Amino acid sequence: MLFGKHWKSHHKMKIVIDENAGPCPGVKRAIRLAEKNLMRSSPLYALGPIIHNKPELERLSKKGLDILDQAEIENGDNLEKIYHKNLFIRSHGISPQLERRLEENHAQLIDATCGKVKRVQKVIQNYYRKGYQIVIAGKKGHPEVVGLLGYCDNNGIVISDTAEMSRIDPLKKTLLVSQTTLSKTKFNEIREKLLTLIENPVINDTICKHINGRHEQLAQFANSVDVLLLIGGKESSNTGVLFDICKKENPDSYRIESPAEIEKKWFHTDDLVGITGSASTPLWQLEAVSTFLKSSL
Ligand code: SF4
Repeated sequence: MLFGKHWKSHHKMKIVIDENAGPCPGVKRAIRLAEKNLMRSSPLYALGPIIHNKPELERLSKKGLDILDQAEIENGDNLEKIYHKNLFIRSHGISPQLERRLEENHAQLIDATCGKVKRVQKVIQNYYRKGYQIVIAGKKGHPEVVGLLGYCDNNGIVISDTAEMSRIDPLKKTLLVSQTTLSKTKFNEIREKLLTLIENPVINDTICKHINGRHEQLAQFANSVDVLLLIGGKESSNTGVLFDICKKENPDSYRIESPAEIEKKWFHTDDLVGITGSASTPLWQLEAVSTFLKSSL
């Protein structure tokens, strides 16, 4: 089954854009909120890139969005950069400790933390207060995970691989949650291993439904085309997860950030080329790649 609209190029190559691609609701909301605030007052300072997508950030930067180094502020360095400033909190969220620091420095907060991330923060806080050992399946250092850890006073254990699970105390009451963008497979591996280590852990699968369903849709889309182009930021961990799925389904999958990286040798006459994007790729970038292919191949 094919998804989306079809175009015929001059060389009989066909192009199809994945109709399920595009930013997730949390990122879309963050961009809308940033644009709305930029119309009122500029500059607006964001703690880290609000979307892992260079061209989109350039577009927002022209409107007055300035990106600060979140780690620097977490460390308490150069706090004059946030003093009395309009500060934008991206969809990944931040720790309560950092939020306090921002408030102490009289920053005006514009909070775009995704509701789904807020839910994980609350679950962690509730169980931590009840004395549970907190295990977060996710990537160490990922901004969402850094924020989540703050909700258990940085006493949580972050597990990105089952090999690291010896750090878990098998005698403690335990809560397992996941970073919202973790792959279901990874989470299941960690869950299965945890069940062999601990009796009755509380397991809260907090993987975002958007990401979840997206994996299956993407696998189907990758299967339905000859060549697949996945457009997404080099630093986006979500793009990395999606690219692994594409590669597995279709070896002729390529991960690019912009049309300039496309190589002619990837394509053959009559190929059906699929264009898709990660949760942080705006639709206008998929259209740009399609236009590029139609005009240059
Ligand atoms: S939790 Fe889901 S909807 Fe929210 S920002 Fe993350 S991927 Fe997007």
